[in-house]
Amino acid sequence: MAVKYLDLYKYLRSMKKQVLLLNQDNTPLNIITISKAFKLLDKDKVWVDESVGEYYEVVSVSKIIKIPKVLILKYYVKLPFKKVAPSRKNIFKRDHYKCQYCGIDLCDKTATVDHIVPRSKGGGSTWTNMVAACRDCNTFKGNRSLKEAKMQIKIKPKEPSYGFLFEHMLITFRKEKNA
Ligand SMILES: [Zn+2]
Repeated sequence: MAVKYLDLYKYLRSMKKQVLLLNQDNTPLNIITISKAFKLLDKDKVWVDESVGEYYEVVSVSKIIKIPKVLILKYYVKLPFKKVAPSRKNIFKRDHYKCQYCGIDLCDKTATVDHIVPRSKGGGSTWTNMVAACRDCNTFKGNRSLKEAKMQIKIKPKEPSYGFLFEHMLITFRKEKNA
């Protein structure tokens, strides 16, 4: 499929392919679109990670453009302090998709979020008051406190680091890259 150069950006945007961007010190920084990657290459802001040696091939009118799947920034970007929201998905990821009461494995369909101190008793939707739970444990606990329900949490919940959630982004990237 030949692509006019002028339409290249448009074409790249439509490809929905992802490129892993590493910081200057080789730590993962972000997952970017192939069009953003092309721009960074064009502006000479990135190195190509030759050790990975994997490319997306884009066929244009006159040539084949190779866009690496992994790029390294030529300068260091200081990561801003990022707050991660305690969304349902993020709670499940933090708790490794395991019920924090009985330990059973969960998936998006079976996982629920339990408020340790029930909302009706003033418990907030915070990292430290929410855990992943299976339906049975959640229903059993109901509107009771841990003490009232005589239940125990496996691991005291806390706010995860940004790096932890980034690891999950990387896992998704690798899955999509290999798909
Ligand atoms: Zn359970």
